[in-house]
Amino acid sequence: MSTKIPRIIILPGDGIGGEVMECALSIIDSIYRTTRAELDLVHLQAGAGTYLETGDALPDNVIEAIKLSDGVLLGAMGLPDVRYPDGTEIIPQIDLRMILDLYAGVRPIRLLPGAFTPLKDDRARELDFVIVRESTEGLFARMHEGKIEDDKSAEDRLIITRKTSERLFDYAFELARHRKSMGHLGKVTCVDKANVFKSMAFFRNIFEERAKAFPDILTDKQYVDAAALNFVRNPWDFDVVVTENMFGDILSDLGAGLIGGMGMAPSADIGDNIAVFQPSHGTAPDIMGKGKSNPTGMILSVVLLLKWLAAQGWSDNYFKAANLLDQAVCRAYADGKLVPYEAGGNAGTKDILNRVLNYL
Ligand code: ATP
Repeated sequence: MSTKIPRIIILPGDGIGGEVMECALSIIDSIYRTTRAELDLVHLQAGAGTYLETGDALPDNVIEAIKLSDGVLLGAMGLPDVRYPDGTEIIPQIDLRMILDLYAGVRPIRLLPGAFTPLKDDRARELDFVIVRESTEGLFARMHEGKIEDDKSAEDRLIITRKTSERLFDYAFELARHRKSMGHLGKVTCVDKANVFKSMAFFRNIFEERAKAFPDILTDKQYVDAAALNFVRNPWDFDVVVTENMFGDILSDLGAGLIGGMGMAPSADIGDNIAVFQPSHGTAPDIMGKGKSNPTGMILSVVLLLKWLAAQGWSDNYFKAANLLDQAVCRAYADGKLVPYEAGGNAGTKDILNRVLNYL
């Protein structure tokens, strides 16, 4: 811990990243006035816009500032038209996960009371599970080293290591244990493709090994194709889902779709010493500047940040602030009248922000 007040790096990024970050900053200000849970905010820039200005998407001074901080709040980064000379997109948020060793990508999939879901079954109202996406290896581990040979074939590598997998599974089991104490099922589902790939069989074996240390937690294993089906058919049966990076990337968007859209889903990328909090969505250039971006996922990422700070040993006040903010978001949606544009309604960025602020 750096000071008496947690120092948080603010990185709005590109596209709608800035719009949803503005909402987060209003929320942080309001929370402080109500609870005195104070954050020392340091505003910095990274992303596609920064690359255009400086030639570097993630400048060294930003990385250094992050390493000395107590956490990062990030909007979204990357723009389809801004690319490196080799044609790949600028996605420093993914590099940041590697640099900071943020192996546990936590993606809560919880349907807020009153919020839109495309699922018609009444059990959807109980939807509340968490995807833990490994975030430093898998198919992303060598993402800058993929090769195209003579325009005839292409190759990327998938890496699974014992060290990261053990930490990942332990994190998922601890999370399930914590959730069990809050009334959830206490189950971890490992999602892989162990029937086809050696790397995935290795991943599953380590899952089974680590499970032995958590006899109080139920386990399940599903192939990723079956898991995709079950996400739609009976998602209420999941509690904690743990999976490889690319599978987690895809399943998180499917999960977000179940709870009303990309703008509803928060995330936290957690390492042993530092964590980055950001909504699950990207920069959404299609809606940028139109007042239609949904800031709910960003606001719920602030909830995750405040809870994480409390768990890191900062005062209980951050935990109280997290609960207050979470309740405000739930109350904002509770009467079913707040329907964001992405869910077919007409609630824009400011409507959603103001509704939440009203309940703080
Ligand atoms: P990335 O690969 O960077 O995660 P993506 O290609 O998955 O990004 P997003 O930017 O997340 O794409 O956008 C996917 C769709 O979801 C788009 O139609 C976008 O408008 C919509 N969307 C994303 N975020 C929001 C939001 N906060 N509010 C409303 N709609 C959103």
